[in-house]
Amino acid sequence: MMRIEPFAFAGLPSRVIFGSGTVAQTGAEVARLGRKRALVLSTPNQKADAEALASRLGEAAAGVFAEAAMHTPSKVTERAVAAFEARGADCVVALGGGSTTGLGKAIATRTGADQVVIPTTYAGSEMTDILGETARGEKVTRRDPSILPETVIYDVDLTLTLPVALAVSSGLNAMAHAAEALYARDRNPIITLMAKDAIAALADALPAIVRDSGDRTARAAALYGAWLCGAALGGTSMSLHHKLCHTLGGSFGTPHAETHAILLPHTVGFNAVAMPELLAPVSSALGGTPGVALFNFASSLGAPTRLKDFGLNEADLDRAASIAVANPYWNPRSFDQSSIRSLLADAWEGRRPPC
Ligand code: NAD
Repeated sequence: MMRIEPFAFAGLPSRVIFGSGTVAQTGAEVARLGRKRALVLSTPNQKADAEALASRLGEAAAGVFAEAAMHTPSKVTERAVAAFEARGADCVVALGGGSTTGLGKAIATRTGADQVVIPTTYAGSEMTDILGETARGEKVTRRDPSILPETVIYDVDLTLTLPVALAVSSGLNAMAHAAEALYARDRNPIITLMAKDAIAALADALPAIVRDSGDRTARAAALYGAWLCGAALGGTSMSLHHKLCHTLGGSFGTPHAETHAILLPHTVGFNAVAMPELLAPVSSALGGTPGVALFNFASSLGAPTRLKDFGLNEADLDRAASIAVANPYWNPRSFDQSSIRSLLADAWEGRRPPC
């Protein structure tokens, strides 16, 4: 018999459109929100795609701002808000990964703009009410219902250009959201269902993308899994894994998706000792104990496995462990500086986690 614990479930208020060629619905979605002039956002890399989308929007486009950058630097946001106001925009359309979504959220919190997000990675930010911004070298993260984008358009076609290495690390970044949702203190049965299906979808899709980057069925399954993972992140509170990634990204500048990919087997292996039954979906999807299964899965995909390859030296591990324990937060297994130092040392060397 299933054992149902007491829970609270707040629903998922975003409007989500999923399919192939769905980017063509952007204008209709802007109009549906009652908006008339969208500032289209992207990174410099995806500027051409943003310009193509703006010309497709015609009168409904207020221009393109293509300076989105990782970790939402405040200086970029200030320039973007100035462009938003100067061009008489009344909403944003964010075309890209988590960096572009982050810029859209930052503009929205300052101007009240509605957001239409068209995600092209698996980061999942589009489904959360979380915004992390960087100013003077410090990343500050906050959570507020007003940050959540109004409309999300998933178009599988736009993910076909996502390079395989980034698809793999971004997919593991997504799986981290689902894994932590499984044992979150505020988990609930709906989010658990989503997290389980997400892990199964990505477990199938990522190896298929590595075999054939043009496999549309696999790309669709990965994007579907990424949506569910984002919803799981948005619907629960995260624990050790996300806090450690935040510490390494915020204080040592390690790259976002790759940091998640490297740490995930170690943090999940650490927590599986306390809650093996809750992490059983990871074992069912990948085979083996959760941490080892994720390590083998990531290795088989050619994902990065060593923090030492991302500019972190061994002395940094002490400082990272001390930052990570400085502000206490909930985790299913208790930890101290020494256990975190040991977990980080395994991830730094690329050792297989113990369980
Ligand atoms: P990203 O958005 O920085 O994208 C990485 C690079 O890939 C960029 O140059 C981008 O233009 C390019 N790219 C994206 N999609 C592409 C495609 N389909 N084809 C070709 N190139 C493509 O990376 P990311 O990992 O998606 O996002 C990382 C950022 O998102 C970090 O700042 C992180 O903090 C944030 N994030 C926030 C949340 C949240 O809930 N607030 C969740 C996840 C990530």
